[in-house]
Amino acid sequence: MGILDPYKGFGVTFSTMFKKPTTEQYPEYKKETAPRFHGRHQLNRHPDGLEKCVGCELCAWACPADAIYVEGADNTDEERYSPGERYGRVYQINYLRCILCGLCIEACPTRALTMSNEYELADDSREDLIFTKEQLLAPLREGMQQPPHPMFLGESETDYYTRDPEAPLPWQVGSEAQAGGGTAADEASAHGAGSERAR
Ligand code: SF4
Ligand code: SF4
Repeated sequence: MGILDPYKGFGVTFSTMFKKPTTEQYPEYKKETAPRFHGRHQLNRHPDGLEKCVGCELCAWACPADAIYVEGADNTDEERYSPGERYGRVYQINYLRCILCGLCIEACPTRALTMSNEYELADDSREDLIFTKEQLLAPLREGMQQPPHPMFLGESETDYYTRDPEAPLPWQVGSEAQAGGGTAADEASAHGAGSERAR
């Protein structure tokens, strides 16, 4: 150590005293994340509200931290939660284990599972950090209806999956007809639109 080194050290301290603080004022000020930041997961829905998850468990198998638990079950004509044969009856992600690596969303064949930018996942309760399906499911948007209900976007799975994404939804066609003096009320009630439109 040279004779001047302590003074150089104090020089760094002294010059830093006049710099703008870099402290993040969290949680009062929340910094915006990068658009592709890996945060809390979300289970997505089709435009009629049915769930995209088909309970295949591929996400659970892909997870290196064993953080996902899935139990699938069969849909029936009377009780349908997804357009496939099966749906995810139980779905849990344990955020005590999750390392937010994103391998699960890569493994998902239906794009049911994606990740949001939400990063506030700390808690002082182990139970509260095991997120259930109800917590992970995307909110119902305009035109969606809470499952179980029939497939509103087509009679068959082919119709359902190959429909033009730009095409108006059945209940939108109904409201257009109403605007032109048609039978919108019939359409809306037939498809259940408008009964629950919570976000
Ligand atoms: S992000 Fe990674 S660790 Fe977290 S649940 Fe998905 S695969 Fe598992
Ligand atoms: S989220 Fe995707 S990979 Fe996981 S069970 Fe559902 S459909 Fe399968």
